[in-house]
Amino acid sequence: MRQEQATLEVIPNPAFQHKEQVATPEQIQRLELSGILQTTLVLDQLLQIFSQSIRQWVPHDGFHYRYQDLGLQIRGGERAVHSCHYTLTLEGESLGELTLTRRKRFSEKELETFETLLCSLLYPLRNALLYYRALESAHTDPLTGVYNRTALNSAMQREWKLAQRLHTPLSILVLDIDHFKAINDTYGHPAGDAALVKIADCLRQGVRASDIIFRYGGEEFVILLSNTDTAGATLLAQRLRRRIRDMDCSDIAPNLRITTSIGVATLNHPEETPEQMLKRADDALYRAKRQGRDRVVTA
Ligand code: GH3
Ligand code: MG
Ligand code: MG
Repeated sequence: MRQEQATLEVIPNPAFQHKEQVATPEQIQRLELSGILQTTLVLDQLLQIFSQSIRQWVPHDGFHYRYQDLGLQIRGGERAVHSCHYTLTLEGESLGELTLTRRKRFSEKELETFETLLCSLLYPLRNALLYYRALESAHTDPLTGVYNRTALNSAMQREWKLAQRLHTPLSILVLDIDHFKAINDTYGHPAGDAALVKIADCLRQGVRASDIIFRYGGEEFVILLSNTDTAGATLLAQRLRRRIRDMDCSDIAPNLRITTSIGVATLNHPEETPEQMLKRADDALYRAKRQGRDRVVTA
């Protein structure tokens, strides 16, 4: 970044009056843009900044960034009918796809300018994607691919603030596999691991895209349900409990049957912290265990 600023300072120097050495306005634009784009590693911020900064040269109403393998979709501004779409690659590495949209058709000249400006995005974008992947892996359970306990703390805070701001209900499920120790003891630890993977898949298939699944402990999962009240959360818990009970586990062991117990809680007043809500769901889970397992108890 410093180097580029130094280059910019050199431009008005009379010693560089020779025509070929004077930077064109487009080169200056690109240098300035590169500097701005290096101020963040956060993917959506980077794209917002890029969209904002290039609007003066390539006016547009909205943008859409997509990286399919990472399940990433980032949108900004407003959608419109005309679009220009670019698949981004750097040294053979895919960096996703970027689309600009607006009400008026893009001219050839604008597309040319956009292509030049896109070059400034590639390296910062690659760094932001590396950063995103590093954050993801620090927050993901390697066995099941769902989020881990570290991620739960920040997600609870975020969802809690959102629920307060939007006055929407927030619920939580704590799910514990019944007699899991016996599964390990009977079929072996690898079979236990395979069962955990199968349960995580079953949960993923059974929830909405806005619900977030965490592996909370060895054989415990937590699911955060935004915009879901007690009735909805209890209904979902019952559905997940049945799905797991009905799972075909013959690929792991011929006679394996898995059941779970689930505790449900909903944020019951604005002062309640997410940790208190989690504690109530956990207490409800232990009641479900005491009452005989393979059941749902709502706090
Ligand atoms: P309950 O119905 O009361 O929940 O009984 P449980 O046997 O499921 O509960 P307990 O807490 O006694 O045992 C949990 C077991 O989970 C013990 C531990 O060995 C096993 N476990 C924890 N993490 C893993 C893991 O990553 N893989 C495997 N295979 N087993 C695990
Ligand atoms: Mg347990
Ligand atoms: Mg258990």
